[in-house]
Amino acid sequence: MTTVNEEGHRIMALIDGFHRKIDYLRLSVTDRCNFRCVYCMPSDGVEFVPRDELLTFDEIERIVRVLVDLGIEKIRITGGEPTVRKDITELVRRIGRMPLRSFAMTTNGYLLHDMIGEFRQSGLRRVNISLDTLNREKFKNMARFDGFDQVWKAIWKSLEAGLDPVKINMVAMRGINDDEILEFVELARKEPFHIRFIEYMPSSGDYGNTFDANYIIKTDELKQIVGKKYELQPVDETLKTGPAKLFKIPNFRGKIGFIDPYSDHFCSSCNRIRLTSLGKLKWCLFSNDGLDVKQFIRSGKSDGELSDWIRTKIITDKPERHPAGVSELIQVSTVFSQVGG
Ligand code: SAM
Ligand code: SF4
Repeated sequence: MTTVNEEGHRIMALIDGFHRKIDYLRLSVTDRCNFRCVYCMPSDGVEFVPRDELLTFDEIERIVRVLVDLGIEKIRITGGEPTVRKDITELVRRIGRMPLRSFAMTTNGYLLHDMIGEFRQSGLRRVNISLDTLNREKFKNMARFDGFDQVWKAIWKSLEAGLDPVKINMVAMRGINDDEILEFVELARKEPFHIRFIEYMPSSGDYGNTFDANYIIKTDELKQIVGKKYELQPVDETLKTGPAKLFKIPNFRGKIGFIDPYSDHFCSSCNRIRLTSLGKLKWCLFSNDGLDVKQFIRSGKSDGELSDWIRTKIITDKPERHPAGVSELIQVSTVFSQVGG
């Protein structure tokens, strides 16, 4: 479908079978990670994709260009852990040259400190850093890696480098880190951090294997915990840039967000697709399979053919909604480290 933008230029829009405009790509550049977060990966025995099966940077750039021409305006690089992909700064540079409204990365932050300056210069505008605890010892248990100090340094460096906003993702789990929720809120008092509380979802991590629904703290409960101490004021919907339910607190510089894929799926307004490091285009976080764009381009197809294929397939294949209940989600058992959360 073609539409006309404010400057009167004809632009392509990627529309699915449920009339949703798809303008957001989550780009997973590796399934590898230096951490083994308890909710995401098992502690050992993780099998990674052989490196030669990964999309090369040239292939990623080519597919992303086709998607941008089709109407993708926002890109988030994710993983696995994107900063462990060799020469990631080169890929950031290549994508940073494309005409995008938003270019961001989600990272565990461990290797970020020394890369952030170059990322910023290459056009990266926003960063989400995952941090589930402010306690060094607990961090070692949750990430199964002694990395708190490095991540903490990277958070402050990102702020200094002018990334705006710097978002901190906290997966809240009952009995694990729920005693720290208000401490996280306090981080947004003096600095413009966005603190985002994410509902824990059953996955392939260790806690997924022995899944206990008690770990889940739904957004309603999280909001109540925060609301008892702070006045949460909803942020104007038009200023929102993602699925988080966003709030401000009087006299706080930062904002508080709640992401509730588990209790309130936002499928009706879904605007996103995902490209895995293996070259599968996934229509939904919980899709079991995806469109094999790597195989398609390696078989010699042109950009025009790729573009037509994606436009046709998104209409027939992007589902209306993802499974909502725990039992359904467990059956799907999404490997977040492969699709990027
Ligand atoms: N390695 C990077 C990181 O941790 O930020 C990017 C990939 S990670 C899969 C993306 C996001 O998914 C992180 O914020 C992580 O906390 C979240 N995540 C992973 N497993 C999850 C789960 N079972 N439930 C909720 N969020 C999860
Ligand atoms: Fe690695 Fe991110 Fe998964 Fe943690 S959540 S194991 S940092 S991919």
